[in-house]
Amino acid sequence: MTVEVVRVAVLSDNYVWLVHEPVSGETVAVDPAVAEPVLAAAANRNWRITQIWNTHWHGDHTDGNVEIKAATGCTVTAPAAEIHKIPTPDVAVSDGDIIRIGNVLGITISVPAHTVGHVAYYLAGEAVLFAGDTLFAMGCGRLFEGSAAQMYDNMTRLAALGPETRVYCAHEYTLRNGRFALTAEPDNAELIKRMREVEAARAAGAATIPTTIALERATNPFMRAGSVSELARRRQARDSFEG
Ligand SMILES: [Zn+2]
Repeated sequence: MTVEVVRVAVLSDNYVWLVHEPVSGETVAVDPAVAEPVLAAAANRNWRITQIWNTHWHGDHTDGNVEIKAATGCTVTAPAAEIHKIPTPDVAVSDGDIIRIGNVLGITISVPAHTVGHVAYYLAGEAVLFAGDTLFAMGCGRLFEGSAAQMYDNMTRLAALGPETRVYCAHEYTLRNGRFALTAEPDNAELIKRMREVEAARAAGAATIPTTIALERATNPFMRAGSVSELARRRQARDSFEG
């Protein structure tokens, strides 16, 4: 891997990702919910943030934009369909647009459903996906602005990425997602095994992200849903799940 990815844990359960490309010295902040801890994490490594990539307009993904841009002069890339809701955007992206960090190229993948314009940022050569609030470890985002059919398409599309792809999502929801997943697939041996590992990690205060496409294909009840209606049923059940 050429890029280095660093986790910055903020708010109650958000992860902001710093992506550093050492040849150019470029650093991207993905979904900065806040500014200060993100700027501090970059400064600790002598990195300067040159770009922000927002996956969608929600404040816990964009509220750091203004201050980080003011402090660094970075360029803000954001989904075209939500650009009017996103602070200080410079570049609008939709499906299949090229993104770049130094000489590392990537592509945007349109994944509407959680919000209408949600995009994921995919660095194929690095096998790295920034999935925002679309694909979580053993979960998917709530359907605030889109449909189960759209989320089903998103899951199908993301499942087709390389199995080794590391998935960096924006929240630590893994434990509750996994408990719900066990209600959907109580006999899934890989899921049972994964949950033992997740429970141990969380008990030790460790993060469970990144996950991988292979792990999600084996254990994620939304990626594994056999139809739109099955995904819809599971999403509805997950919305009220308190386990
Ligand atoms: Zn969101």
